[in-house]
Order: sequence, then structure tokens, then C-alpha cells
Amino acid sequence: MAATLYIVIPCYNEEAVLPITAPMFLEKLRSLAALGKISGESRVLFVNDGSRDRTWEIIRELAASDEHYIGISQSRNRGHQNAVLAGLMEARDKCDITISIDCDGQDDIDAMDEMVDAYLDGCEVVYGVRASRRTDSFFKRFTAQSFYKFLAAMGAEVVYNHADYRLISARVLREFANFREVNLFLRGLVPLVGFKSTTVSYSRAERLAGESHYPLKKMIALAVDGITSLSVKPLRLITGFGFAVALLSFIGVLWALIAALCGKTVAGWASMTCIVCFVSGVQLICLGIIGEYIGKIYMETKQRPRYIISERTWEEADDRPGRV
Ligand code: UDP
Ligand code: MG
Repeated sequence: MAATLYIVIPCYNEEAVLPITAPMFLEKLRSLAALGKISGESRVLFVNDGSRDRTWEIIRELAASDEHYIGISQSRNRGHQNAVLAGLMEARDKCDITISIDCDGQDDIDAMDEMVDAYLDGCEVVYGVRASRRTDSFFKRFTAQSFYKFLAAMGAEVVYNHADYRLISARVLREFANFREVNLFLRGLVPLVGFKSTTVSYSRAERLAGESHYPLKKMIALAVDGITSLSVKPLRLITGFGFAVALLSFIGVLWALIAALCGKTVAGWASMTCIVCFVSGVQLICLGIIGEYIGKIYMETKQRPRYIISERTWEEADDRPGRV
């Protein structure tokens, strides 16, 4: 029997682009079903991430127009990662495979064919990897590439140039549901689940409409989240740095003692000031990094829900999404 596919699409203030891309997703679903690769029960699942514009109304209209469109709405904006998680967890028991993709048309929909083929060949996870970033601005390309390199240097293993366009089987999702962390960094967590995986490369286009929600500030926040939720390497670096400074201090003490004994001491105001400024600056940075981890522990211990679904386009009692 053909596998049931759910395409999971997070949407935040996307009224401009949704009417353009939604039919493209449906068309892809239809063509995959026509090829016999997926079943007719497959769906396009939109996750409204607390949008302030008409996004949810558009999703409801789509759901009313075709049973293959379905949607869930989060009670408020929780961010891209939580929106994707909400969609994946919703889809987990209803399908065999999920593909998560942004709703702005930047990721090549045609790569889904290869992803499904890879699944049919026995892969449980298929990562979409950007082959080129020619359409991105120099700044976006540079910051995005630095992002991956910095993550790798800090011990957070991620698939290079892979964002959140990926196929995950329901089997992997069921295991993934046991990863209960509140600090979500999906692209780092999915590889930790394991199972057979592969990559499919595609070229990234420009947004079809609307604006990016990932300015530099959010990218830095995502990088910090990624590193601190996947790795404790920064803490080890601090320890290493502490040892290096301690060694230097020891040499400094010896030098000062010898100089004092030889009676060669002079008023060293400048050197003292520099050392005090430098060391106190370093200490503050180190405290900040440790604080970041403590903050993470604090949030994790609360065990707050990672998403709250307030509405669905189908009746909950009727577990066949699409019959509105
Ligand atoms: N998104 C979301 N919640 C947010 C921000 C973004 O669900 O708080 C969605 C957005 O609608 C889009 C995807 O995440 O489908 C990626 O966002 P965007 O295209 O703005 O990021 P970029 O591609 O520029 O990195
Ligand atoms: Mg985008």
C-alpha cells in the first residue's frame, strides 16, 4: 500500500505568499499520488503560528475548498521551530511520512520526489540540502555560512546547509516524541534520533512574496540556542581558557617576585590597569555563557508545553482530517 504523506508547513503572517504557494503544494501532492508513490489520504497540513494577519482565515478557506488541505492554529506565536514541531506531532499518528517545508516557496518543491524515492528505498530521514545560495544576498549568504561553521566549531553537529526542509518517517517521529526538551533546535535534534538517512540537494530560490522573519538578530539567537542545546563545548572552552590565564598569572607572579627581590620594581599603573580590565571583561563573558546554560536549565525544569493548538480545520472527534 502506498505511504500516506503529510506536508507540514509553518506559516506566520504569510497572507501575501500563501495563496500563491498553497496550490503548488497541492499540485505536488496530486502528482506524487498519480505516480502511485503516496496514498490519496495524504494531506497538506498548515500550522498557523499565531499570525496577526489573515493567514488563518486563508488556511480555513483552503481547507473548505479542498479536503487535501488541513490546518491547525497555535494559540499564539511560538516561533518557527515550535510551529514545525506542532505540525509534526499532529501528523505523527495519521501518516507514514512527513515533509516539513517553509511556506514561502524558497525551497524547491520538486525535491520532494527524490525525498519520497529515498524513503521508498529505505531511508527514514531525508535532509534537503541547499546546493546554491546564488539568490541570497551576499550578507545573508555570509551570515548563514558563518552560522553553520560556528555551530560546528562549538560542537553542535548539524547537516551543512540544511534548514528545516526534510522528510521524516512516522517511525522516527514516534521516537523523536521522547525528546522532551523545551529548547528546540530541530535540525540538531533529528540527527540524534538516528536511523538511516540521506540528503537531497536543491537550489534555493527567492521568497515568492512577503518578507523574511529571520533577520540577523533572530539568526544569532537561533545559533546560541542551537549551540547551548546541543553541546557543552563553550563551558569546556571556558575551563581551558581559565587554565591558560592561571598559567599566565603564575608566570606573572614569578616575574613580579623576582623583580621585587632584585629591587627593580617601578610604578606599573598602565600594566595593572590593562590586566584588571582584560581579566574582568573575560570573567563577565564567561559568567554570561554559564548563565546562558543556567537559563536553559531553568526553562527545561518548568516543563511547559512546547505548543498549544487552539483550533483545527476539522472536528477533533472525526479523526479523518480533511472532512470539514
Ligand atoms: N515562521 C513561523 N513562525 C515564526 C517565524 C517564521 O512559523 O515566528 C515560518 C514562516 O512563515 C516560514 C518559515 O517559518 O514558513 C521560515 O521563515 P522565513 O521564510 O521568514 O525565514 P527565512 O527563509 O528568511 O530564513
Ligand atoms: Mg524563507
